Amino acid sequence: MEEIIGNRETLALLYGAAKSEKPAGCYIIAGAEGSGKRSIARLAAAAFCCVSRHPDGSPCLTCRNCRNILSGTHVDVRELNPEKDKKWIPVEDVRQFLKVTYLAPVEGDWRAYLIDASALNTQGQNALLKSIEEVRPRSVFFLMATDLSALLPTVRSRSVILKTEALSSDIICGALQKEAGNRAKYAERIPVAAALSRGSLGMARKLLHSDRFFSTRATVLSYFDTILSGGGFIKLCAVAPPGAMNRQEYIDFLTMARTCLRDLLRRKNDPGAAPLIFPDEELFSDLATVIHLRRGVELFDLTEELLANADNANVFTGLSRYHRGMQGLTKNE
Ligand SMILES: [Zn+2]
Repeated sequence: MEEIIGNRETLALLYGAAKSEKPAGCYIIAGAEGSGKRSIARLAAAAFCCVSRHPDGSPCLTCRNCRNILSGTHVDVRELNPEKDKKWIPVEDVRQFLKVTYLAPVEGDWRAYLIDASALNTQGQNALLKSIEEVRPRSVFFLMATDLSALLPTVRSRSVILKTEALSSDIICGALQKEAGNRAKYAERIPVAAALSRGSLGMARKLLHSDRFFSTRATVLSYFDTILSGGGFIKLCAVAPPGAMNRQEYIDFLTMARTCLRDLLRRKNDPGAAPLIFPDEELFSDLATVIHLRRGVELFDLTEELLANADNANVFTGLSRYHRGMQGLTKNE
């Protein structure tokens, strides 16, 4: 079980519920991917089932109930998640899962149900309604959701909604540095991963360890560097060859280029804007100076268009169009 960073208020509220006479029957824990929703839900379930809870309602983390819940193996705490590599949980699985919610607790006083609600389609959510409306005694549901608006109003209105907290870049950097120790490979990567994580430690961790993310970043940086040194279409093709990129690489490339461009356009409007992607101020400010604002906006729109159609597009044609758009970036009217 990883250490929980931030989210103290949410946890305090859930711990308070665990020791109260009448907790709610269903809690929604909402927040970005990797923001600690599952860890929070497990800690809350542990608080309900712990045999030696602290006075503030928090779990002891050492009794058998706590240990089994935190490792996801407690008989009274069931978790419903999509199968590996699947986005959705079939409604049949939801119905099957809900059958166990009629059982009494086996090992303690409470039963808790942790459901990845982001993987429930409308049918799945509807199947859940009755169970969360009339929650059985000594039972509690925790629904984890990345996007609250994807939940039916009827599900939301039956639940207490709690949001995970977006962590500051500094907190994320600190946590990653602690984990990575002083391995040199990560020193340059950590601030980039933290800046692009949208406040989610899990996301930052994923980026930090993604060699693919950092190699795409290197490609895109040298692509923009080429523009700075006056390189035209042929040189751009040499950095990002249209004939040698597969669809996923194409999508990764455009996504990264979009973030770079966003950095540059922000700097055009606000001289104090700090970059998310660029490693050094010199390259960043030189580029921001030479690019033409209106053409930058046009290229941004082109990036959005190509990304929106990337699933069916011809990669060669798309990338060639992008190089031509990029080539115009520094031209004056
Ligand atoms: Zn305990």
